[in-house]
Amino acid sequence: LWQDVLAQGKDTLPPGAADIWLKTCLPLSLEGGVLALDVPNVFIKEQIQSRFLVPLQELLLSRGVAQGVELQVASEIRPNEQKRAEAAAQLVVPKNGLNPNYVFDTFVVGKSNRLAHAASLASAESPGVAYNPLFIWGGVGLGKTHLMHAIGHYVSENLPGAKVVYVSSEKFTNELISSIQNNRTQDFKAKYRSVDVLLIDDIQFLADKESTQEEFFHTFNSLHDAKKQVVISSDRPPKDIQRVEERLVSRFEWGLVTDIQPPDLETRVAILQKKAELRGYVVPEDVIFFLAQNIPSNIRELEGALNRVVACSELNGEPISTERAAEWLKDIIRNVLRGPVSIDLIQHLVAESFGIPVEELSSSKRTSDLALARQIAMYLSREYTEASLQQIGYGFNKKDHTTVLHACRKIDELLKNDLRVKSIVDNVRKKL
Ligand code: ADP
Ligand code: MG
Repeated sequence: LWQDVLAQGKDTLPPGAADIWLKTCLPLSLEGGVLALDVPNVFIKEQIQSRFLVPLQELLLSRGVAQGVELQVASEIRPNEQKRAEAAAQLVVPKNGLNPNYVFDTFVVGKSNRLAHAASLASAESPGVAYNPLFIWGGVGLGKTHLMHAIGHYVSENLPGAKVVYVSSEKFTNELISSIQNNRTQDFKAKYRSVDVLLIDDIQFLADKESTQEEFFHTFNSLHDAKKQVVISSDRPPKDIQRVEERLVSRFEWGLVTDIQPPDLETRVAILQKKAELRGYVVPEDVIFFLAQNIPSNIRELEGALNRVVACSELNGEPISTERAAEWLKDIIRNVLRGPVSIDLIQHLVAESFGIPVEELSSSKRTSDLALARQIAMYLSREYTEASLQQIGYGFNKKDHTTVLHACRKIDELLKNDLRVKSIVDNVRKKL
């Protein structure tokens, strides 16, 4: 990967940067999105910092390698040096705060995100007109931020004068607080009430922040009245957002509320193929399929696994194969299939309580006890494992995740007043 960066750097970084300066550095680690580089001495470090740290960070970001760089001089780590290294590691935020990789072109559309994608595209094509506000919710790493940035890029390109602001609700809160401290609330209001498209991410973080909610309420009203587009994301649907004022939550439902579900197997394969292609990785088809099948449906982890496999193959000089990938990803895969509580374990315990052979749970037999046992096992798998509905379905030989969804609802219902079901479930819970 580093060699790749150097090769690319020849064209995109200032002359000499890659051939003279960066060539002397060695990649040390890549953790938490920060690439640590071992730099031979303080002089070289200062040269890199003053001449092309920002373009280097942008290059790494655009290649999806890292979000920040930390320069370490192995022999001379002095206290203030340390501080400077920290400053250097600050994440690069491109001018408009939008990640250049998060565009519609790189977003793979599948059943699980089709509506959210279509609604985002519509809002990007005619901001303020189609759906206002557009509210997108879904679990972590499923593409909410990607879609919001894509809207931002699209509008900026197609309506050049438009003012697009992307902000996380945390940053919104911090900006408000600092504007109050510095007597600059007027500037804050002016900034947010004059935008054409406001993209506000992870709104659930406004919980309990009353004055921020108040301010956001007014911002929202003023933008909405002026027919300016507001796009909001959250990890849950509006009605489940707690400790946020009712009047605000009800406004979230004025426009369109749409969700993103964990991707199914085909979509996971397509996403991996897309990511591999974008990064110029050559990964055999069966390995892509292996990753898609075995990694939790969180797309961020899927991407991480792909990066890890490619990096391991390069570092070890070994070609990528399913066997090697399984080895390199041992820790991740074990968590899914054989974690502390696995679907398998749950199946065994439930089968035991019913006195039925465990294989029957994955059969297609439908006697009433068996059906109940199967539903309880699915319900507990949902509760105790990280597996998606789809993955739980596979665990029971069911292609369709709606069976699992149905089972979960059914057991939820039964637990309210069916004492037998309640005692079985409690019993298995104790053993877990
Ligand atoms: P969220 O904001 O929902 O937690 P992100 O938007 O940050 O998730 O997505 C996590 C990662 O997964 C990003 O790198 C993003 O590019 C990628 N990703 C998510 N959904 C898709 C998709 N449908 N196609 C391609 N990449 C995706
Ligand atoms: Mg996000």
